[in-house]
Amino acid sequence: MPSRLAVIRPTLTRRALTRRTVLRAALAAGVAAPAPGQPVSRPPEALRSTSLPTSPLHLISTGLPTRQGAVALLGGRAPAWFGLEGPGIVSSFPSTDQVVLTFDACGGSRLEHDAELIEVLRRHQAPATLFVNRSWAVANWRTMSELVADPLFEIANHGDRHVPLSVDGQAAYGIPGTASVEEAYDEIARAHRLLRVLWGIEPRWFRPGTAHLDDVSAELAVHLGTPVVGFTVNGDLGATAPARQVTANLLTLAPGGIVLAHMNRPGGGTAAGVDAAVPLLRERGLSLRRLDDVL
Ligand SMILES: [Zn+2]
Repeated sequence: MPSRLAVIRPTLTRRALTRRTVLRAALAAGVAAPAPGQPVSRPPEALRSTSLPTSPLHLISTGLPTRQGAVALLGGRAPAWFGLEGPGIVSSFPSTDQVVLTFDACGGSRLEHDAELIEVLRRHQAPATLFVNRSWAVANWRTMSELVADPLFEIANHGDRHVPLSVDGQAAYGIPGTASVEEAYDEIARAHRLLRVLWGIEPRWFRPGTAHLDDVSAELAVHLGTPVVGFTVNGDLGATAPARQVTANLLTLAPGGIVLAHMNRPGGGTAAGVDAAVPLLRERGLSLRRLDDVL
């Protein structure tokens, strides 16, 4: 079976990203286009909003199951649990010698790019799965194109508004989650569609903002073909951990483990911590893989 990137790359070659492409997609997403002369490397104001309008992006067919179908399947269900772990969330995988590093490019106030971290991963030829939020992708679209074109990285979906995935508005860290099946659908599908329209990516995994969700939402993600991936090891504590602690956290990894760390907050200890940990993990016989290599 050809690798997914082999399928994606010709698409990219045919459709190099331009300012015009980004503007068109922003408009399709119901977002105000930047004024002439305004750099598109800055996210349009509406993308920072937590209350985006209903989007005509729904009209673009991506092969995802419909919103109405999802509501018919899951509407009216009361969640049994809400949290970081539970049935239906992939937090580890069966393996004797493989581990997966995942890095979140979060939405919110820090739509930055940890170039040092990406350089570390490339220098070590360390594969990783990158969970990218829609606002981050638009704000960093040139970087996104480079990441998409690099076979070292798999791109996955980190949501539209970067909020917990819930069907009844449960909150995590004070951030209210989506409040219905419709809103949870939009949280997944709007980001999925943008990644597909702009970069030709068909994400295979979803991780909500804050990584919190309920069981009905977990089922919804599976229904949309992108199961939720959690984590075994919290690598950088929201990019707040110093390098030494990041390294120590990564070294607790056992085969089948998944690390969560961040790539949108440069200046912390994540890059240096990963830099030190990768050779030590390999010395222990652990092999680094992307999620699509092992799941
Ligand atoms: Zn995040």
